[in-house]
Amino acid sequence: MYDYDLLVVGSANADLVIDVERRPAAGETVLGSDLAVHPGGKGANQAVAAARLGARTALLARVGDDAYGRLLLDSQRAAGVDTVGVLVGGAPTGVALITVDPSGDNSIVVSPGANGRLTPADVRAAGGLFHASRVVSAQLEIPLETVVEVVRSLAPGSRFVLNPSPPRPLPAEVLAACDPLIVNEHEAKVILGETGVSEEPEEWARILLAKGPKSVVVTLGSQGALVASSEGVARIASVKVDAVDTTGAGDSFTAALAWRLGAGSALAEAAAYAARVGAAAVTRRGAQESFPTAQEVDALCR
Ligand code: ATP
Repeated sequence: MYDYDLLVVGSANADLVIDVERRPAAGETVLGSDLAVHPGGKGANQAVAAARLGARTALLARVGDDAYGRLLLDSQRAAGVDTVGVLVGGAPTGVALITVDPSGDNSIVVSPGANGRLTPADVRAAGGLFHASRVVSAQLEIPLETVVEVVRSLAPGSRFVLNPSPPRPLPAEVLAACDPLIVNEHEAKVILGETGVSEEPEEWARILLAKGPKSVVVTLGSQGALVASSEGVARIASVKVDAVDTTGAGDSFTAALAWRLGAGSALAEAAAYAARVGAAAVTRRGAQESFPTAQEVDALCR
């Protein structure tokens, strides 16, 4: 009855990456490596991660009418994502300019471009996608008023999953719709603000839950995750792997969790599966390139 297991509403960026020996000071020029261009953005990443696992996935996003926009559309389609909801034009495609130094530290400048032009009216015009989707996920690399409209557009019986990244305080209406709100440590602390004084993730999860979400998931990198709901707080063990690059771990975790919840798994069970997906993703370099298939996830845990 649903056409899609997951509708992702969010950003699509071209990640332009150059390795440098050191960053330039003001007024200085340094030479770097050849340019590498990767499809990215949290929305695009989550859609690819879900589709690669086998979820019937659609993306609602906006890209520019330019070469990076075409790159993003191609990478979505290659992964099997339905791009009927990807709007083209209005501004250049969002870009992240990334320099990486020899220690692996990133410096990033983001031009949101077309992501910033994904409007509430665009969401209303895509009403059919909401009615066709069992689960809807969003992040915060698009305007907050657009995310508010997403919440208002949810079809009865569908489920909303939010990864508030980059974090900012959220309206009560958005918090109340989350089932779950998925945060890492940094996001939890920004959303909790002054009340986030405790260093205990269990405590963050409880306080976040009291702010209105139906459930909360706190991701803890190599330490796994926590799930919190009216049934209490539970730890989700991580899978031991040799991590080579954690980029995209959170996006693949969120996509996997959303998909398994839509398939009827309980929160802890879905989070345990998502932890396996996140662990598989950190064993490979890159973001979208690192996302595993369902078979690869199964093989990891034999
Ligand atoms: P990012 O913003 O880098 O994409 P994040 O901070 O949102 O990530 P993480 O907590 O780093 O999210 O990772 C999400 C999940 O992926 C974790 O909860 C965990 O289950 C899994 N994971 C991440 N890093 C590792 C690791 N080194 N070993 C095993 N599992 C990992």
